[in-house]
Amino acid sequence: MPIYEYICKDCNQKFEAVRSFSQADDPIKCSYCGGENTNRTVSKCWAIGNNSVTLSATSSGSGCAGCSGGNCAHCHS
Ligand SMILES: [Zn+2]
Repeated sequence: MPIYEYICKDCNQKFEAVRSFSQADDPIKCSYCGGENTNRTVSKCWAIGNNSVTLSATSSGSGCAGCSGGNCAHCHS
């Protein structure tokens, strides 16, 4: 399961929790003060996911989904 990072607005501490994807945005208690005023922050896993989304978006702009250079057979169909 992915590790998500959360930040507590009450005590300003960051903490990590291992949760399933479907639970990522569920409320979670701060592991420092027990407060529920927490937000999910950009975690390492999430950053990697965003990066690949950006890469595929760039590819579709210049080429097709099957290549990244814009010069395969599908690009000119
Ligand atoms: Zn806290």
